[in-house]
Amino acid sequence: MTIDIKNLVRKNILNLQPYSSARDEFEGKNGIFLDANENPFGNLNRYPDPSQRKIKEKLSELNQISIENIFLGNGSDEAIDLAFRIFCEPKKDKVLTFSPTYGMYEVSANINDVELINLDLDKNFQIDLETLKPYLNDENLKIIFICSPNNPTGNSIQNIKYILENFNGIVFIDEAYIDFSPEETFRNQIENYPNLIVSQTFSKAWGMASVRVGIAYASDEIIKFYNKIKPPYNISQLNQDAILNTIDNEKINQVSENIEIILKEKKNLIENLEEVDLVKKIYPSDANFILVKVDNADSVYQKLVNQNVIIRNRNSVIKNCLRITVGSPEENKKLLKTLKSIN
Ligand code: PMP
Repeated sequence: MTIDIKNLVRKNILNLQPYSSARDEFEGKNGIFLDANENPFGNLNRYPDPSQRKIKEKLSELNQISIENIFLGNGSDEAIDLAFRIFCEPKKDKVLTFSPTYGMYEVSANINDVELINLDLDKNFQIDLETLKPYLNDENLKIIFICSPNNPTGNSIQNIKYILENFNGIVFIDEAYIDFSPEETFRNQIENYPNLIVSQTFSKAWGMASVRVGIAYASDEIIKFYNKIKPPYNISQLNQDAILNTIDNEKINQVSENIEIILKEKKNLIENLEEVDLVKKIYPSDANFILVKVDNADSVYQKLVNQNVIIRNRNSVIKNCLRITVGSPEENKKLLKTLKSIN
């Protein structure tokens, strides 16, 4: 299957003359800088590196991937939104999602005035390929979003390869929770599929949600379009420094240890939740959260809130389901104790 990415890109984006910032035009370090209308005084007076090269070099080393295949955004939410802006003509093109899933695909579709086709996952929260097949040849269908492990269900999605092999538009795999999962990332498949975008984030396993940095891995052709349309300085120097500080070798070990603790806590939490009377079902999870079914989710949620334990009520999305993020050992103990006290 040969795919010409340019055929998928909106015409105005293909023809766009991108903004060229002062730091794009002069990259050297020496000299006096009177080119960006910056203030000469202070510590935070200079614009940051617009291409976040140091972080990309670290990621490149860590993941054996070329920096031309990496985009960094203001959270992976920015990678999602920019995908719409690159590929989807408002009021004409469509995207497809499998529900229940992460809410921002739909919100971004609405913001960008792009039609969203929503197919239900089956009873095991997997994609039903037979339902999907008729949509794969729609030439206005530009992006299929697959969240794996899926939020809020927690499971990994199967049959992604089939979609990659049989769809000529963009396959966007959201791997926000992949570092908690035993499944392999699709990041290493971008060489094989020019139409694949894999998003990851520093917000979850890396423990840096407040910093707001997300990643998209894709063919250099797709990444060029991302860079063409992104706001010039989309990641602040403070945020770049925070990431660089964590990504250095010693702190990476701490990140891995924290992931191990969270996974051990998840196992422990599941074992204990099985003993809680009001929990009717615990869904399998490859993420750092657990979806559980109870008799009356609204009531359980409210009773927990009353005792200052805040979980996510997903009743409106999946009947009587609650999503529980795995916390620290103390937080999980408090959650279990409070749940056991509810009747
Ligand atoms: N994808 C999924 C599946 C998520 O659950 C989230 C956040 N909850 C995001 C993307 C956005 O993450 P961020 O913008 O922090 O990278």
